[in-house]
Amino acid sequence: MVTITLYCPHCQSDALVRNGHAPNGKQLYRCRTCGRQSRETPTPHAYPQDRRDEIQLDTVVRETPNVRVSHANVLLLRGMQDLVAAICG
Ligand SMILES: [Zn+2]
Repeated sequence: MVTITLYCPHCQSDALVRNGHAPNGKQLYRCRTCGRQSRETPTPHAYPQDRRDEIQLDTVVRETPNVRVSHANVLLLRGMQDLVAAICG
């Protein structure tokens, strides 16, 4: 049995209680601290945000020349390329 500690995205409390399911089958939670409802987000905070940005940037820079990207990623890449241009001149 693996227990994943979930935190409220609104107040970061871990006092979440199960509150039924969304139409798409996702577990819903309600926060006992702030009373707001959230969907399950089982992504652990494995890296601090800074480190995640670094990894993402590194990956984008390495793979940009030949990778096929989705529209959403194109928007992200544009931002990244501006950043790279700013750093590298
Ligand atoms: Zn909360």
